[in-house]
Amino acid sequence: MKARLLDGASLAATIRAEIKQAVAELQQTRGVTPGLATVLIGDNPASAIYVRNKRKACEEVGIRTFSHELPASVSQSDVLALVESLAAHPEVHGILVQLPLPPHLDADRILSAIPLHKDVDGFNPVNLGLLGVKGKQAPFAPCTPQGCIELLTRNNISICGRRAVVLGRSAVVGLPLALMLLARDATVTICHSRTANLASVTREADILVAAIGKPRFVTADMVRPGAVVIDVGINRVEDPKHPKGYRLVGDVDFDEVSEIASAITPVPGGVGPMTVAMLLRNTLIAAQRQSQAA
Ligand code: NAP
Repeated sequence: MKARLLDGASLAATIRAEIKQAVAELQQTRGVTPGLATVLIGDNPASAIYVRNKRKACEEVGIRTFSHELPASVSQSDVLALVESLAAHPEVHGILVQLPLPPHLDADRILSAIPLHKDVDGFNPVNLGLLGVKGKQAPFAPCTPQGCIELLTRNNISICGRRAVVLGRSAVVGLPLALMLLARDATVTICHSRTANLASVTREADILVAAIGKPRFVTADMVRPGAVVIDVGINRVEDPKHPKGYRLVGDVDFDEVSEIASAITPVPGGVGPMTVAMLLRNTLIAAQRQSQAA
């Protein structure tokens, strides 16, 4: 492997330690403990694991969690009533509604009910829109894109003036990340399932981000030698040798691409742990802001 490994696991551990210290300072100086409310709807096992991991990470840095689990059959009005009560709760500084939601629920309406100052996941559509307006500051950037930016900046990889190509245009990863790279003065191209001549576009990237959910989709011939490659994808592939019968791989063919990229994130241990660290940081910032406003 020739590329530098962008180690998200160890960077996230450093950031979690910084947050733990800041949480203790907030408690000492203002008597405030940051609080995150999690809302888990239905019985999606992956969502349950994500929420459990986020709550555990919160507790390790001293952030209090308020857990709400609702059945898949819950009505839209009951979810909205819960979000409104959390919005008014003085000890809840951040609200996280775990996606995806059961199909009968209107995710946009529910996410829009989270007040911007408690939208620590950054999924309120207004928050997303503000990311795209030059000169405006979104209260909170979504955690996965923010984790990608942090991986670049804390590894001294410059963004300004560079050609960035983002594979994927979802509202939770690809689109906000493209807007955040643009705000940092990269020249940005967004690719999606209808992009023609995809490899010729990706080969122009100085910074290539893959967020499409297709195992090992990005091969070496799609990458310019020396490019920085950020792999957001998390995909299960069968592996009879693994105790669980599967293992996790990214959207990038790591073995091939790490031979020609200048830097690359691994999966697991790259963007994933950074996402959780950014959620903790957003919750801390929410508590700091709300304690100053009180
Ligand atoms: P998503 O909502 O399914 O969006 C996938 C995007 O990829 C869509 O914009 C789609 O294009 C595009 N796409 C699909 N096939 C493509 C192809 N062959 N060529 C080019 N573009 C293609 O997925 P997501 O929620 O953004 O997640 C993407 C990946 O990131 C998944 O593996 C997910 O598990 C992972 N993820 C990781 C983290 C983390 O913390 N590391 C967090 C969130 C998500 P269209 O718009 O044209 O359909």
